[in-house]
Amino acid sequence: MASARSLSQFQKAFSDEASCAAFMFKRRWPDGFVCPACGKRRVAALKSRPRLHECLDCGRQTSVTAGTVMHRSRLPLTTWFWAAHLMTTHSNGMSALQLQDQLGVTYKTAWLLTQKLRRSMVDPDREPLEGVVEVDQAEIAFREGDTFFEPGNAGKILVIGAVEIIERDTNQAKPRRKHAKYLDTRSGRIRLAMISDNSSASIEAFVNANVKRGATLLTDGHKSYPGLTGYRHDPRVVGKMAAHIVLPWIHRAFSLMRRWSLGTYHGLRRKHVDTYLNEFVFRYNRRYYRHVSFETLLGLAADKEPASYWDIIKRDNPRSRTGSAPLLHIDEPESAG
Ligand SMILES: [Zn+2]
Repeated sequence: MASARSLSQFQKAFSDEASCAAFMFKRRWPDGFVCPACGKRRVAALKSRPRLHECLDCGRQTSVTAGTVMHRSRLPLTTWFWAAHLMTTHSNGMSALQLQDQLGVTYKTAWLLTQKLRRSMVDPDREPLEGVVEVDQAEIAFREGDTFFEPGNAGKILVIGAVEIIERDTNQAKPRRKHAKYLDTRSGRIRLAMISDNSSASIEAFVNANVKRGATLLTDGHKSYPGLTGYRHDPRVVGKMAAHIVLPWIHRAFSLMRRWSLGTYHGLRRKHVDTYLNEFVFRYNRRYYRHVSFETLLGLAADKEPASYWDIIKRDNPRSRTGSAPLLHIDEPESAG
């Protein structure tokens, strides 16, 4: 299945509910199913409802989608699978509009699919960056609401990024003496985040959360860096030289991200900047094995709490002002409320 690169091959491998459910089943219980009610292991899939498996000892039914973003969705599993495949393999990712065209679903469904799958693009257990790491900040333009993106009158947000510097010949990091040039390198993994300002507190919080202690930090020598403890700091004096020359890899990442946000989304929207950044990082860090990352996406998705429509659009659910919030699902009709 990992070799199913093209959409048509992929659609053949996951042509119906049963093949998707079987894949989910193996992903979720790699060591074999254990009934959550009785602890026995004998189980049968229901022919009419392939998402459900019934314990042959106690009769308890377990859904392969329980606890995943797909839970209780009435969308076919094939739609979820194909959407995840498109979002991970398409060279620039997928906007909701593109997904709508490719899958023949409504715009609202496509938009919620992209939002929910993007939320799965952060691995909470991901390893921090290590070795030699370039860190820098950049201003990125964003657009408000549905207005057209015009760089002249766009707002700006501040993004901080970090990237691992890898030696081409050994494929490993090699810290050098201070101020030495890092030639013949490539970029490893990256991290990006929006920060509110250039203060030491903002920068330190990002570095501490994303870079392993002991790493060598290559920076532009901004006054907010020296407070960082537990790292080897090697500031590159920018002075006359442009930052993209002394810190080439993080600036390459910034410019790719700018181009991608314009090409795919016609400019980032402030409200969703974090999910867009996560998507970019997810795709960048898997750029050499994109065709298998849909599995990561669905696998990661299985560890996520289901998000409701109202969580995603960051509005109060009008139906749940009192009492507990009913979980709304991606393919529910528009609320009348
Ligand atoms: Zn049982």
